[in-house]
Amino acid sequence: MTKRSLYDLYMAAAAAVREHDATCATCSPERRCTTGRRLYGELVRLQDDYLAQQKTTRA
Ligand SMILES: [Zn+2]
Repeated sequence: MTKRSLYDLYMAAAAAVREHDATCATCSPERRCTTGRRLYGELVRLQDDYLAQQKTTRA
């Protein structure tokens, strides 16, 4: 269902951020490179969507 695929996207985005952080010499939690910011922005967006969906599903 939609719930699972959104969760999968969210997890994939989280993995992409972790993978980037592990390999990128420029990124730190306070300061990210352009790619890092893009990946992190995507993760935040998916996380918001996912959490919003969790709320609607439970209500
Ligand atoms: Zn980076």
